Amino acid sequence: MAPYDVVVIGAGLGGLTAGAILAREGRKVLVIERGNSVGGAASSYKSGELFVEGSLHETSDPHHPRDPKHDVLTRAGVIDKVTWVPSGAFYQARGGPIGQPFLMPDNFDAARQALSQRFPEARKGIDQLLGEMQGIVDAMATISQGKDALKKPRQALHALFKLLPCARDWSLSLSQKLDRVFGDSEAVKCVLAANLSYFHDDPTTLWWMYFAMAQGNYLQGGGRYVQGGSQRLSSALARAIKVAGGDVLVRRVVSGIALDQAAKTVTHTAKDGSDPKTVECLRIVGNAAPAVLEPLMEADAAEKLGRSYARQTPSASLFALTLGLSKPPREFGVTAYSTQLLPPWMKQLADYGQGAALMAEEPGQRMPPMSVVDYAAIDSGVAAPPYALSVLGPDLLSNWDSSDMEAYREKRGRWQVAIVRYLSSIYPGLGDAVVASSFNSALSVRQYLNAPDGAVYGFAPTPPASIWQNPFRSPRTAIPGFYLASAYAGFGGYTGVIQSAGVCADMILREG
Ligand SMILES: Cc1cc2nc3c(=O)[nH]c(=O)nc-3n(C[C@H](O)[C@H](O)[C@H](O)COP(=O)(O)OP(=O)(O)OC[C@H]3O[C@@H](n4cnc5c(N)ncnc54)[C@H](O)[C@@H]3O)c2cc1C
Repeated sequence: MAPYDVVVIGAGLGGLTAGAILAREGRKVLVIERGNSVGGAASSYKSGELFVEGSLHETSDPHHPRDPKHDVLTRAGVIDKVTWVPSGAFYQARGGPIGQPFLMPDNFDAARQALSQRFPEARKGIDQLLGEMQGIVDAMATISQGKDALKKPRQALHALFKLLPCARDWSLSLSQKLDRVFGDSEAVKCVLAANLSYFHDDPTTLWWMYFAMAQGNYLQGGGRYVQGGSQRLSSALARAIKVAGGDVLVRRVVSGIALDQAAKTVTHTAKDGSDPKTVECLRIVGNAAPAVLEPLMEADAAEKLGRSYARQTPSASLFALTLGLSKPPREFGVTAYSTQLLPPWMKQLADYGQGAALMAEEPGQRMPPMSVVDYAAIDSGVAAPPYALSVLGPDLLSNWDSSDMEAYREKRGRWQVAIVRYLSSIYPGLGDAVVASSFNSALSVRQYLNAPDGAVYGFAPTPPASIWQNPFRSPRTAIPGFYLASAYAGFGGYTGVIQSAGVCADMILREG
């Protein structure tokens, strides 16, 4: 008998969540991670004295009963093992065509009211759009319950009924949808989608329905941060696996996958390729990207897997500059936990798409759109001083040349200087208070996470080509006994990854 029921390749949020549910359901689970610790992108760490959050600013509230993470994290045994701190208002949007900064509330009713007050001429469109988003969130929550939804048939029908008006706009991009509702009123569009980098890097290729679901989840229950850092969530998941009798190995790189026997095998080595070990298992779950797993398989399986994802494009990447300040950011005028800074050159929402490629050049007049996150603005549990301020924005792997690492570091340093100067023009004095820093680019994402193209959200959430094309991805792959639990198995971000990991675990459990 194979010693493991399931081997999971990668200890990112997807692998850990699927592993925890399976282990708690009595499956013998082994998770193998190439990094020094568990979590993948969901990691936080110290760089000298500076706290660095590897990813999380905000996720929707997992305690909300209709949040897609609620049941999954409950079954993984961790929902109450960490503290989910409210982020207060959803975000502050400023710059571009917005004019006076706008504070986006963290729930549908208050958002509707604040937006209508600020943009009275667009009130009808605001009501329509937020109403549709709310309907989409409700319907998706019902659909994701599967057969359980049928226990309350009237409620289920009512939720699905709300989807009907959306059929007409099913294949629209976010830009197309907002153009249809608001015409050329760019300020209201920019406010509504100021946090676009939470999902993608270009509103003209972001699927409107996905935006409605993901943004709607935040407006349903508000944003949350894991007190003390995202590492706490990842470590809690790893602990849940071990407590349930599973094993978690770090600093071990999976180098071979054999799938054609009833008992499959996974070979892993030390980071330098030494000390190879092979384990047998009944099923394999890939948390690493399909493009990483494919070359580890025999030719037939690799070809099958490659072919099934050939039409998918990689998602956006992000740069993340963490600044350590000697004083709290609020002393320089940072007033919200999450601020979405649109650059002055952005005149319309569609311009956002130009931001990701800017770092290909030397810093000049144009800065990318940025999210600025002040961990001292909420009860984040992040130690200070130095006060950690995360500055994130869209980035591309092709912006950076990895053939000369010295030149790469110098260019990145020049961008850091330019970003700090730009921030100081908005928040006077901020630049003088910087005492520590850490700058991760799309290249860092590729190197640390082994993420092809530096993608942080799996495959890009682009609109389906037609109403007949299924836009929903699945943990099931073209290879029997081989599954995905990651951003590539559904959508990216904490919510998408945790949701698809739950679906993956359920598939395996159903198969016996
Ligand atoms: C800067 C940044 C900010 C973000 N902000 C947010 C946010 O505010 N809210 C939100 O919801 N989402 C955010 N995200 C996105 C979110 O963090 C990711 O979508 C999610 O964590 C991806 O999880 P995953 O499990 O799919 O993949 P990953 O975290 O990439 O995990 C994959 C794991 O597989 C491992 N691996 C790869 N190859 C091998 C191998 N051969 N052998 C063994 N292990 C291997 C990797 O080391 C890695 O640990 C952010 C991401 C970044 C980078």
